[in-house]
Amino acid sequence: MNPISTIRTGVTHRWTQTLIPTLREAPAEATTPSHRLMLRSGCIRQVAAGVYDFLPLGFRVLQKVSQIVREEMDAAGASELLLPALVPIELYGGTKRDEAYGDLLFRLTDRHGRLTALGPTHEETVTELVKGSVTSYKQLPLTVYQIQTKFRDEFRPRAGLLRGREFTMKDAYSFHTRIEGDGGLNETYDRLYQAYVNIFTRCGLDFTVVEAEAGPIGGSASHEFMVNAETGEDTILVCPASSYAANVEKCEIGERGWSFEASSDASLSKHHTPNMPGIDAVAGHLGVEPSGMLKSVVFQTTDGEPGWVVAVVRGDHEVNEGKVRDAAGRSVALADEKLAKEAGFAIGYVSPRTAATVPNTLLLIDHDATRGVQQGVWATGSDTKDHHDTGFVWSRDLGLALPDAPGGDGPVRVAEIRNAQAGDPSPRQAGAALEARRGIEVGHIFKLGTIYSKAFDFVVLDENQKKTDVIMGCYGIGVSRVIAAAIEQSHDEGGVRWPTPIAPYHAVVTVMDPKKPEHDEAGDRVARDLSEAGADVLLDDRKERPGVKFKDADLIGVPVRVTIGDKALEQGGVEFKRRTDEGKGELVAFDQLRERVLAALGG
Ligand code: ATP
Ligand code: MG
Repeated sequence: MNPISTIRTGVTHRWTQTLIPTLREAPAEATTPSHRLMLRSGCIRQVAAGVYDFLPLGFRVLQKVSQIVREEMDAAGASELLLPALVPIELYGGTKRDEAYGDLLFRLTDRHGRLTALGPTHEETVTELVKGSVTSYKQLPLTVYQIQTKFRDEFRPRAGLLRGREFTMKDAYSFHTRIEGDGGLNETYDRLYQAYVNIFTRCGLDFTVVEAEAGPIGGSASHEFMVNAETGEDTILVCPASSYAANVEKCEIGERGWSFEASSDASLSKHHTPNMPGIDAVAGHLGVEPSGMLKSVVFQTTDGEPGWVVAVVRGDHEVNEGKVRDAAGRSVALADEKLAKEAGFAIGYVSPRTAATVPNTLLLIDHDATRGVQQGVWATGSDTKDHHDTGFVWSRDLGLALPDAPGGDGPVRVAEIRNAQAGDPSPRQAGAALEARRGIEVGHIFKLGTIYSKAFDFVVLDENQKKTDVIMGCYGIGVSRVIAAAIEQSHDEGGVRWPTPIAPYHAVVTVMDPKKPEHDEAGDRVARDLSEAGADVLLDDRKERPGVKFKDADLIGVPVRVTIGDKALEQGGVEFKRRTDEGKGELVAFDQLRERVLAALGG
């Protein structure tokens, strides 16, 4: 593959004629490497929290990433279009996502008083569009995409382009009349999965594809594309012995032991624990470890039939809502505090015993919350405000019959209901343990099913002239986030080290002394020659000290540097150096330079 294939003839730009305002220091609020280096190298400037100018250098990178995305999406059979950023609120009528998004949604009112959103993503807009134009199965499958500015009023915009309030996304949507087979959702999903692998590989990224939570909205499968980086916000879990990788929300846990046996006759006693925020404080006060406590989280069912679910995990573990839903076999949401209190749950102090006292309550117990770390004896809430109990023993104190095997459909069940974590047994390979890594989510693909088509009454006629539901998939890439992620992976103290395919320029030609006609002339000639060969060239013709120019060349991270100076010129050549080379460059004769540069670029 030719990494500079996105261009035919390269460009030559003169530093003095463009805007690359490099900075020695980054503003103090920029702490992540990509944020600092993008500001310092003059790629972006902050306009407001999470809102940035793209300067010429940054914009060139954005264009290159966009072009790679475009080529692979087109090759996968998707058609590019462009939807508006302004979305009338009425479009959310059927999906209620304006409410679900809450404060994340930017809202504005136009001069006629009509409420409008700035699109955070475009399922509604695209469904409405395609519904208006597609009436028959013959017009499907169809995949459309756009590369467009999205708006999300993030609570905490951070790290420059990693989490902005205005950012560039590629979003694609596919429409089908079937899931399996020719033209089905699965076929397109697999094809776009491969397109994503191609895109991130071509961008020069080291990434992991992970299984993701498909969500409660009728979706059936989902994958996230994670750039491996210590600075990533997301934790992913991988099995080193198989290819299994998943995000925390989704990750399954392998075989675990369980037992309600207790080998101590500790007695139950009640303790006053007022004003103690969180498990750690309570555990400290009671003189136990957080892992010796039971954490009981109350959910309410949301499928129309009223009911409660108490999910019990070890104090140092996190309840996983998706797993609670699966174990309960019903849709659930965290209980409304007021309703739960009225029903008899002492929120903040709930114990498993409430399953015996509050009607219609299902009790789910995670495996690790059965066998205590302290001989099967637990500390737990005591179902009265400001109090906890120690000495809780399942078989003696619950007041309900305990199951004799995990799973089942009884009122008390042992089930996997917590987030996986590093060290847990792998779900795919006996004996192997899950490892945790940090990642940056750059892409997300999703089998949506019929959720949007149902909300929009979008049906088409099938082979038998019968109305059939339209099945959808959606596929996002954080195009601007990709840029920051690339820098997180590829930089050093001196600056950025752009992967060649997305570098703003392929070569910087540094003219040591532009006042000297022979330097000036050689610089021009070399730049022209390299751009004719396909490379994008930045000609550093500034009247600055060579030290300043070398530092800037490192900072902006262009893969190849060619220096025009007296010493090399006398020997009939130039100094050649890759951004990744340590120390001084090497002398390369004029007639070998083109070949040398192209080889260094991998072309
Ligand atoms: P996150 O979990 O990081 O908030 P998300 O899951 O809400 O992201 P999606 O709705 O899946 O995001 O959007 C598709 C892609 O857009 C994401 O995979 C991510 O790469 C990118 N993205 C989402 N939010 C932002 C943001 N605030 N700034 C930059 N890129 C973003
Ligand atoms: Mg996502």
